[in-house]
Amino acid sequence: MSTPRIEVDLSKVRHNTQTVVKRLEKRGINVTGVTKASCGNPNVAEAMLCGGALGLADARLSNVQRLRTAGLTCPITLIRTPMLSQAEQVVQICDTSYNTEIVVIAALAAAAIRKNTVHDIILMVEMGDLREGILPENLATIAQYVMRLPGVALKGIGSNFACLSGIPPNASKMAALCDLATETEGVCGTFLKTVSGGGSASLPWALGRQSKGRINDLRLGEAILLGVDPVTGDQIGGLYTDAFTLVAEVIETDTEPVFPPANFGDPALVRLHLVPNSGHTTRLLLAIGYQDTDVSGLSMPSGHTFVDATSDHLVICTNRSPLPVGAELRFQMNYKALMQAMAAPDIDTRLLHDRSSMRSRDIQGTSKDLASV
Ligand SMILES: *Cc1c(COP(=O)(O)O)cnc(C)c1O
Repeated sequence: MSTPRIEVDLSKVRHNTQTVVKRLEKRGINVTGVTKASCGNPNVAEAMLCGGALGLADARLSNVQRLRTAGLTCPITLIRTPMLSQAEQVVQICDTSYNTEIVVIAALAAAAIRKNTVHDIILMVEMGDLREGILPENLATIAQYVMRLPGVALKGIGSNFACLSGIPPNASKMAALCDLATETEGVCGTFLKTVSGGGSASLPWALGRQSKGRINDLRLGEAILLGVDPVTGDQIGGLYTDAFTLVAEVIETDTEPVFPPANFGDPALVRLHLVPNSGHTTRLLLAIGYQDTDVSGLSMPSGHTFVDATSDHLVICTNRSPLPVGAELRFQMNYKALMQAMAAPDIDTRLLHDRSSMRSRDIQGTSKDLASV
């Protein structure tokens, strides 16, 4: 089997999706499955749909293209505000996009008219995360602008929390977002179908006791893929944290004690954190490095500690009986490590528990059909 590789247990992705979908259903909130950390992997996307996600979202058009090329016809939303230069393709392959800039919305509208279609717009509102979004005081003006433009339809509003700021949403911020939805409807005279309350960082709020108000959508990536709360890093009860496992191969193992070279005073060598072998520890060299993943986001197997890494090597040490050259070691990844590893050209993906028999039905279904799967 080829290494390095990521083993994806699709039944765990399905289970995680199903679990959050069921919990949020009771609160009137739909789940949009965010595929970006899996680099738009169609099998992962399909597992999310199987688990009850009402559509998919990704930040990159290249990932959306992967999903479409694999035959997925479900609704797909672009959640990073589109590049002006990509307006044409956005309209071609995405049903909906999140937007903050009038000039981009105008380009999407023009492209949609040329294609004889209507592109749905969700306006992203800045509620304190300070990454992207329209300031609340400007929302009404931009919403009215969208309403007047042929080629686009105002589908809703949404916000983002805890991405740049690390601050999760609270009840008053969510209530403010709901009020904005109602105000926008008053000004525009239209019903906003979607009021999206953020990503995985909004789950604690969504599962809490307070009223959910108008919020009827969450865009979930990390919670589904890694089973953790992005703000605390804690496991979410009932979810698997090991749907994705990175497997790397040992290429060197030092069984003899290694002493630092005589010129250890050389600052370049000091940086290497050379760890001499003792009777208790062995250094292992693995064929994986920063070119493949964010090595600092790997959790070491028990009995193993991280020493250092370079572009192509990972150095760890162990107090266990040393593994031979050619042996494999397994690592869990955090979100950053996962998204880089899934995009790395030299890492293979091995799918476990693929439900290929359900493939055609789930992939082709509309979002309504999928809801009842
Ligand atoms: C990445 C992203 C999400 C999903 O975030 P998770 O923390 O992975 O759930 C949701 N919305 C936007 C705009 C994003 O960029």
